Amino acid sequence: MAQEVWQQSLKESVTSIEQLAAHFDFNPRLLATVEAQYPMRITPYYLGLIEQVGDPIWKQCVPDLRELDAGGFSDPLAEEDFAPVPAVIHRYPDRVIFLVSGSCASYCRFCTRKRKVGCSDMSISFRELRAGIEYIAANPQIRDVIFSGGDPLLLPDSVLQDLLARVHAIPHVEIIRIGTRVPVTLPERITDRLCTLLKKFQPLYLNTHFNHPRELTEQASEACARLADAGIILGNQTVLLRGINDQPTIISELFRGLLKIRVRPYYLHHMDLTQGTGHFRTSIKSGLQIMHSLRGPVSGLASPHYVIDLPEGKGKVPLVPQYIKRQGEKLLIYAADGSVVEYPDLSS
Ligand SMILES: *Cc1c(COP(=O)(O)O)cnc(C)c1O
Ligand code: SF4
Repeated sequence: MAQEVWQQSLKESVTSIEQLAAHFDFNPRLLATVEAQYPMRITPYYLGLIEQVGDPIWKQCVPDLRELDAGGFSDPLAEEDFAPVPAVIHRYPDRVIFLVSGSCASYCRFCTRKRKVGCSDMSISFRELRAGIEYIAANPQIRDVIFSGGDPLLLPDSVLQDLLARVHAIPHVEIIRIGTRVPVTLPERITDRLCTLLKKFQPLYLNTHFNHPRELTEQASEACARLADAGIILGNQTVLLRGINDQPTIISELFRGLLKIRVRPYYLHHMDLTQGTGHFRTSIKSGLQIMHSLRGPVSGLASPHYVIDLPEGKGKVPLVPQYIKRQGEKLLIYAADGSVVEYPDLSS
């Protein structure tokens, strides 16, 4: 079958420091060591968003020596302890992550699954996919199946269609979600044909992963419009990243911009304790300050939950700025402008 445009783009991606050095003037010293441990790939489109060395796009996709730091955990969420079969992570009773793809259009340097995403041991066999579907079919408490990886939308249409059809046909599965970064890094993947295919598997929720307002381009906007026009409900998961988006003005511009392209901010993730990503971590305090700065000035639709995913697989917990304080019989509530209001609460 003829190659699709997006498959050609993947082939033309930059996958080595040497290739990158042909485009930019930077010091490549030792970076090949990083790339040997954690793969790199930058699509031609995403490469085109880099305006200069070290900018917020560059930092998300170009290897950095600090990735070799030994601190942190290889599998911070203990996902492997919650994998009844290799392709399924089952931590909450009613929903599972289904790992359907081992690769991504561009490799994010801050990825929680960087221990295996893009590496050969992440390649998922047909037998593992089949075992994943059998597991979901055999566990009637599973209502919600989240296609993840890697990036599910790197699968060819025919494979994706087959997997979606099998999961959709399981009577107790009520909704399917897809987690994908291709609207950000490879928007040409969102073809009309893909949208027609996805449309068959309603209710379908798609969460994408914009981290910076500079990623909200015309092409990304058109990709999201095609998905939304197909009736797919779009959300976004942003990771709070030091030196990239950890400022109230950047975050509010990002979240407002997402609403304009019909994408609802769903989660702002605190960085996990993943090995090789420590240089991206912010304090929880600065995350809470950013959340507080949104309250009031920014539409409620543009205020996602700020969540931390706890170590040892204890799950996600929302982190919320402190707005209430009990003082004896009195309940004090802090308004968004900082003033304190006494509120007549019931005693129970
Ligand atoms: C995040 C996550 C989910 C989905 O959680 P929601 O809060 O429902 O979005 C499901 N399973 C695992 C293992 C997760 O880490
Ligand atoms: S797209 Fe997602 S899974 Fe892939 S490298 Fe980025 S964060 Fe990791």
